[in-house]
Amino acid sequence: MLQMKLCGDLVLREKCVPVDDISADILSAMDEMVRMMTEQNGVGLAAPQVGITKRFLVMMNPDTGEVFKMINPKIISRSDETVVMEEGCLSVLGGDNLPVFANVSRPESVVVEWTNERGERMGAEMSGLPARIVQHETDHLDGILFIDYLSSVKREMVMRKVRRHK
Ligand SMILES: [Zn+2]
Repeated sequence: MLQMKLCGDLVLREKCVPVDDISADILSAMDEMVRMMTEQNGVGLAAPQVGITKRFLVMMNPDTGEVFKMINPKIISRSDETVVMEEGCLSVLGGDNLPVFANVSRPESVVVEWTNERGERMGAEMSGLPARIVQHETDHLDGILFIDYLSSVKREMVMRKVRRHK
């Protein structure tokens, strides 16, 4: 049974290590992460958010409902064009136990490569929501949270709500 790690837990700040063997443990963790993500109406979940400091994540394309399980994902190029979108995170919850949202500027599209759960090397160009989600989730693997991109004033507004979470 995996447990969601919340903002303030130092595991969220660790740089995760590459996966060298797609073990049964990793496969079952990814299954459970898909379940947790769906239950909480999330669109992505990275391994450190459930306390595992390895480079894998799950995400959903909200436009198609397609679920991706990505092992050792790597963003190999980013568009110069950026776009501002509202982001939340299942590890950054407010007093109502729901994610706190804030606007973040990021590249509009990215090219990402990963290994899927069958060990096949995959690649895709993503734009819009999937690009946003894959950038947010791969950041988690390097210990980066979306609040790190906010101005200190905006970050303090978010953290005030986070501190109301019991
Ligand atoms: Zn997140």
